[in-house]
Amino acid sequence: MSDHLHSPPAKPLALSELFCSLQGESTWAGLPCVFVRLAGCNLRCRWCDTRHGYDIVMHRTPEQIIELVRQWEPVRLVEITGGEPLLQSGVIDLMNRLLAADYTVLLETNGSLPLDAVPDGVVRICDVKCPGSGEEDSFLDANLEALRPSRDQLKFVLANRDDYLFARRFIQRAPDGLECLFSPVHGLLEPSALADWIVEDRLPVRLQLQLHKLIWGADARGV
Ligand code: SF4
Repeated sequence: MSDHLHSPPAKPLALSELFCSLQGESTWAGLPCVFVRLAGCNLRCRWCDTRHGYDIVMHRTPEQIIELVRQWEPVRLVEITGGEPLLQSGVIDLMNRLLAADYTVLLETNGSLPLDAVPDGVVRICDVKCPGSGEEDSFLDANLEALRPSRDQLKFVLANRDDYLFARRFIQRAPDGLECLFSPVHGLLEPSALADWIVEDRLPVRLQLQLHKLIWGADARGV
């Protein structure tokens, strides 16, 4: 008898949406990507642009999610996001199954929960919340050690100059070679101001704009 007949049925995950679009952020920006948005978040950032991610729209088992992801083949890039995806323990099983099915898996997390259980094959894109978000103290310091240079990414969303100075200080603690992404809050900080600060300071970070908002507008959903 095969092993899976002995394992308990996989627990359904609470989802807010699942769709295919272009990856709008990170060094993977511009590529077609399937987004699995898990429902619920433990933080409440002032400028949160995914409040719809707080609500449960459906429950699906990992097997059912993979079936849904397959409908967009040949796309092989999948981002698990939220809300905060690590709030649901079943997400680890989902990531393992996606890796086993040969998907490239990105995990976007808010940085407040441990990354220890995240499978090695997953690319971790980890936020550090800045003061303007109102969630400045949420970052779990141990997560800095769980981020791997040349593979994972540390992301800062900046609402103003104070956030920039906070992020500039913070990256001094990041491991050498870790990709750091600086992104302006849409409508609060002019990209040109952030670009000027980065160039002025010769800061070794990547400015990123939320590509999907530039293409489809700030309020578009499911893109
Ligand atoms: S962590 Fe993300 S989903 Fe949660 S409140 Fe902040 S921006 Fe919104």
